[in-house]
Amino acid sequence: MKCPYCMKESKFVSSKEFYGKDYGSNLYVCDPCNAYIGTHKNSDKPLGTMAKYQLRELRKRAHSLFDPLWKSRKMSRSKAYRWLQKVMNLSSEEAHIGLFDENQCRKIIRILEARYRKEKRVRA
Ligand SMILES: [Zn+2]
Repeated sequence: MKCPYCMKESKFVSSKEFYGKDYGSNLYVCDPCNAYIGTHKNSDKPLGTMAKYQLRELRKRAHSLFDPLWKSRKMSRSKAYRWLQKVMNLSSEEAHIGLFDENQCRKIIRILEARYRKEKRVRA
């Protein structure tokens, strides 16, 4: 996998090598850019695109707001992802937070925060 920031080939390392602890997964890493992405379990399949600190933090925030939609069982996971596609105007292949850039993360964070504010008002 090529680093999207410097376009050089990334390193493929185990979580044990990277974190000093085995999380049962691997990572694609670019040291000069401090960019990385984890893989699905112990595979070489990346969870998204490689990200630097700022983008990693935005994706974390987006996930922490998005995941409760389906984890709370208010809607199914597939329905939540269909909703994500619709509000972000993306295909099912594109509608994954691991693929989002910073602007897309900021957009979904805004939409989800507004949604939760509205839900709170309805309940109050
Ligand atoms: Zn790089």
